[in-house]
Amino acid sequence: MKKWFFLFVLLFIFGYGFTQFLLEDKNETLPEIDYQVEAVVAEENEIPIPVTIDHIYQGNLLLVNKDYPVPPGAVEKNEAVTLAHHREWVNGFVLLDNDIRLTPYLLQTFSTMVEAANQDGVNHLMLSSGYRDEEEQSELYRKMGPAYALKAGHSEHNLGLSLDIGSTQGEMEYAAEGKWLKANSWKYGYILRYPEDKTAITGIQYEPWHFRYVGMPHSAIMYERNFVLEEYLDFLKEQKSIVATIDELVYEISYYPISQTTAIHVPASGRYEISGNNMDGVIVTVSRNRDEQIDNEAAAERNS
Ligand SMILES: [Zn+2]
Repeated sequence: MKKWFFLFVLLFIFGYGFTQFLLEDKNETLPEIDYQVEAVVAEENEIPIPVTIDHIYQGNLLLVNKDYPVPPGAVEKNEAVTLAHHREWVNGFVLLDNDIRLTPYLLQTFSTMVEAANQDGVNHLMLSSGYRDEEEQSELYRKMGPAYALKAGHSEHNLGLSLDIGSTQGEMEYAAEGKWLKANSWKYGYILRYPEDKTAITGIQYEPWHFRYVGMPHSAIMYERNFVLEEYLDFLKEQKSIVATIDELVYEISYYPISQTTAIHVPASGRYEISGNNMDGVIVTVSRNRDEQIDNEAAAERNS
């Protein structure tokens, strides 16, 4: 009997070690991104669109921190929904309390990520904060102090693009939920906003629970390059334009300073996104399939 028990314990230890090994291995998977430095190839079907000062203050890449407040009108006042009133939308995770609100867009991206986590056997996710209005933020700032909370209007939670995600099994730093999100959230457009090694730049303590939505391909590039949002926006400003290939998609990401209404050329196909940086300009992200990109390059060569 004792022998069996010993064997069981041994198997358990090996099993645990092996799953830990697998988890560790997963943590190290970086996105495969191929960067090109050559100039962006002009597409044949491009149209000029007017970009105004207002564009600086809209979009998924807005920088919000102690220096840059949430711009007015970034979130419609009644846009965020109280999840406890819509239990049908709470799948694969639990709510810390009944007051948690999310914007519909963030709920959609979060749900996709939760589904993937559940499929990987990560089943104890808890949503502990979503959208907060300025009153709630002031209250939190009073309670938590400047190292853990930002002043009203300076928190990404006021912007409606951030989530605090916990685990019902323990602290995020050690829980499987925290490890999974840290390694995989970039695939769903999220970034760990306040990493341990970037406190000098973000000005915020390590928060293994706070995730910010920026969208693809930005989340993949930031993850691969180990950039926080402050660094990524500086990098784009410096580079002016980068081309990044991720899987079958080619992304052309360009920064434009905006000081007055400017015409920017975008593909007539409409496959582009514009986001302000909440400082001084906009980032235009054009996406194409790899085949389209090759056709484009060939056409440009024929024409030259
Ligand atoms: Zn947070």
